[in-house]
Amino acid sequence: MRSWSKFGAMVLAMVAGAGAGWAATATPEGCRALRLHGKNAEATACFEALSSSGDPYRMAEGFWGLEDYEKAKQEFEIAVGQPNSPALWRVRYGTLFHERFNDKDAAGLFNEALAEDPANAQAYLGLAMLSADGFDDKASGYVDKAIAADPKLAAAHEFAANLALEDSKPEDAVKEADIAIGLSPYAGGSDELNAMAIRAAVDLLAEKNADAEVWLAKIKAVNPGYGDGYALVAGYLVLNYRYEDGVAYYRKAIAADPRLWSARSELGINLMRLGQEDEPREQLELSYNNGQRDAATVNSLRLLDSYKNFVTYKDETTILRLHKNEADLLRPYFEDELHKAIATYSAKYKMKLDGPVQLEVYPDHEDFAVRTMGMPGLGALGVTFGKIVAMDSPSGRKPGDFNWGATLWHEMSHVFILTATNYRVPRWFTEGLAVHEEGAANPEWANRLTPEVLAAIGDKELLPVAEMDRGFIFPSYPEQVLVSYWQAGTICDYIGEHWGDDALLGMVHSFAALKTTPEAIQANLHLTPEEFDKQYRAWLDKRVGATAANFDQWRKQLKALVGMAKDDDAVIAAAPAVMKLYPEYVEDANAYEYFANAQLVKGNRQVAADALELYELLGGENPKTLEKLASLEEDLGHVKEAAATLDQLNFIYPEDEELHRKLGGLWLAQGNIAGAVREYSAVLALKPLDRASAEFDVAKAYYAEGEKAKAEESVLAALEVAPGFKPAQKLLLEIEAAGKSGP
Ligand SMILES: [Zn+2]
Repeated sequence: MRSWSKFGAMVLAMVAGAGAGWAATATPEGCRALRLHGKNAEATACFEALSSSGDPYRMAEGFWGLEDYEKAKQEFEIAVGQPNSPALWRVRYGTLFHERFNDKDAAGLFNEALAEDPANAQAYLGLAMLSADGFDDKASGYVDKAIAADPKLAAAHEFAANLALEDSKPEDAVKEADIAIGLSPYAGGSDELNAMAIRAAVDLLAEKNADAEVWLAKIKAVNPGYGDGYALVAGYLVLNYRYEDGVAYYRKAIAADPRLWSARSELGINLMRLGQEDEPREQLELSYNNGQRDAATVNSLRLLDSYKNFVTYKDETTILRLHKNEADLLRPYFEDELHKAIATYSAKYKMKLDGPVQLEVYPDHEDFAVRTMGMPGLGALGVTFGKIVAMDSPSGRKPGDFNWGATLWHEMSHVFILTATNYRVPRWFTEGLAVHEEGAANPEWANRLTPEVLAAIGDKELLPVAEMDRGFIFPSYPEQVLVSYWQAGTICDYIGEHWGDDALLGMVHSFAALKTTPEAIQANLHLTPEEFDKQYRAWLDKRVGATAANFDQWRKQLKALVGMAKDDDAVIAAAPAVMKLYPEYVEDANAYEYFANAQLVKGNRQVAADALELYELLGGENPKTLEKLASLEEDLGHVKEAAATLDQLNFIYPEDEELHRKLGGLWLAQGNIAGAVREYSAVLALKPLDRASAEFDVAKAYYAEGEKAKAEESVLAALEVAPGFKPAQKLLLEIEAAGKSGP
């Protein structure tokens, strides 16, 4: 068995024999090994010796080890400026930049090293690390090049193990980790310790906790202060949604190494995900003050500061956090939907959550992205961590860009499924079920057949059910994640349709019991995954096969339709065929809107309304178009439909004063008094210019509901703004008279 002793003894002998020759014999690798084994005093002495050696490269390594990064950079500059400086120096300099959050300069140096030495394995490995951090898909290509250039480079195999585990391929991860452990140039090198941590992570993810402990004990035996091992394990738990377990391991990491600032920052970020504020602030500030100034730390601190702009509403089952500028407007809508979703899912999934759900709504998308990833720029609309949901506010996006109601029901499904399975659920299934639930909550929110999906069907890109996770985690073409959401959603639609909701719930329970996708399919649907794929494809083909086959034809005809937009007769003649070729297309430049507009020019309001109603039913969400439809419906005397259309708009773009005023009027006339109160209150929350009539509208609605005291309060508020407002004066007299004659 290899052990620390041989190499360690050598280094220690060097240290012991310090004396005059010591500075000349210390090596960067030796100093780092001392640090790695927790021999901190010796390591510091070693790095100090390097830093005063007079040789720029050795001095750079010395200052780096002493955490004097600026001086290290200065010496590296001198070192790599020397003629014939080895490529290794550039790799090391690049690695320093990467460690200090500057990936751009790091990439430059790795590429310079490769220009100097095209087979430099370490430079390829450096590029792989940058790619992995930047979430691009080049990392594994670079690792392959690193291993090809130097098959014995342990760190490259360790990194390959990391990539495999991220790709949910634990067997490959174990294989590469074992190669790294076998190749490590000396026992207890960081590549070896990290590879052991990967083995521990693989075991923990497979619920083999005792086996994981064995690996962690091995790391501890080499270096009890090696916090990076625990931090690495924590990162994998977080990646698999196990935030609480991740937090526990980050705590172990900083217990082992209190100066591991990156782990403290991660601890803070993950505690924030669990809804805490005080400890995250403490941990993040401590990290920041000690130089951990990466984007995630800085952004998370900024987000904590912004919390003062939010208000929180609590009841028994919900905690709702809204920005103070829009809290009055959004609160009634969000509270209502949140309670409906909790009641629906509790019944459907036959379970009760063991505490309140916290929903946070961010008007600034960047805040939301920081909230969820620690980094801005996230494409998603909502994210769930256990019982905490963070999502965009409708005000944070272009009107019509997204439907907050559908997003809320989607995320709330995750809350229940993640709780029911204790986070042990494949990504494809939890996403598919959430997409399926959007459509169950409201048919207008159903999974939409987009052109990207049709293109993927045409190219035969749909995945077998057993491999669905790949489409989410390692997409092989840019749209595959979106296509996979759609496909997973239709798989759950199909299961619900043919085996019933209880079969879906049965699969949830199978995943909770750690069954794989093939096992869950077999146990609940009594089919092999291959048989399932066959039946699902046949079902899918009936639903979308014709549309997929029409796709190219549709594209041609839609283009022609757009070209004839000024000729109403031509549009009226051509549009129906375009709709028929691909009925679900309701995005930009759709045939329904062209057709309806042309019919309106001709004065055919009913035909136009019919087309737009179909557009709405199929999920069309352009606010302007839906407003137009509501007006048409109202004009045609279909006041119930008009109200329903405007109520849909509440989920798409509630920041519209006119919408609430109109809907309030419609509902008041239809006897939906509570609805009218909500809509008129929304007008008020939007701080209208004509506040008097808004207050007066609220008063009327309350009065109709028999709420005399509230009606009086509102009518007085109207008169305070506009004392001469005659209808308000009249209503006030009426309320007072009714009060006297009332019980
Ligand atoms: Zn989701």
